[in-house]
This record gives sequence, structure tokens and C-alpha cells, in this order.
Amino acid sequence: MSDNYLTVIPTDPYWQPGKDAADRAAVVLSEMLSDDARRGLEAKWHDSVEVVHCFANLERISCPRCGTELAPGWWGDAVSQCYDEGFSTLMVTVPCCDVETSLNELVYDWPMGFARFRIEVLYPNRAWLTDGELASLAGALGHPLRQILIHI
Ligand SMILES: [Zn+2]
Repeated sequence: MSDNYLTVIPTDPYWQPGKDAADRAAVVLSEMLSDDARRGLEAKWHDSVEVVHCFANLERISCPRCGTELAPGWWGDAVSQCYDEGFSTLMVTVPCCDVETSLNELVYDWPMGFARFRIEVLYPNRAWLTDGELASLAGALGHPLRQILIHI
């Protein structure tokens, strides 16, 4: 038995909407879902930044500058180090280019990210949101969004 989530997070890992904006976005998203899938929709706020991992869907993580694949061990250590500092920063130095970048801006295939707010749908029973759907959802929330398909 596996679980699937369709999750949307703000592109800014520290940004959080107010309750009204989150409610508006939840209504817009629920209109993109079947009646069954709607029951699995939930908006969640967190005090600190969380990793929004796509789990089994993750194939590779690469450098946004040169495209080199980053070793899972390096990534895990980098996340642990930022976690130990309460994710007050997500800045890391990539080993390939020796430049500083945000963990949130690494190239994740499939997408994942970091956030203090998410709307997630358990058993969404649909594929990726289209660009148009994601744009209208972002409009309702008042902030650009990244979507993540989680497979556990
Ligand atoms: Zn690089």
C-alpha cells in the first residue's frame, strides 16, 4: 500500500499566507479535484521550515549552475546542518562549483522543496496541475507556488 500526495508550497520557503488566502486557495484547488479527492485536501502551517520531500519520486538532485549531479550523502549532510540551525538559512556551498546557493534552488528531479506552509491532497487521483491551474491557485493564495508529487 502506498500513499500519494499532490502538494503545493510557496516558492519562498519562509512565506506563509493568512487564513483567508489559504481558504481561497483551498477552494480553487478543490475545484480541480474529483469529489473523492477533495476529502483528502488539507492546508498546513508550520512554525519552522520543513523539507517537502517527494520520496520515491526523487531521481536526482543537481547543481543549478553547472548541472552536476549532487551525491545523496552530500545533500543529506547539507540538510542536516541547516536543520541543526533551525533552517534559519538554507544557504549551502555546492561542491562542484564552490558557490553558495539555497537548498531550495537546487534542481530536484522530481520537484521538491522547503516550506512553512503547504496545501496537500492525499490520493489526488489526478496528475500534475497544468501551468494554468497552478497560476490560478497562486493568484488565489497571493504568492507563486511550486507543486510536488509525493509518493511514499
Ligand atoms: Zn555546479
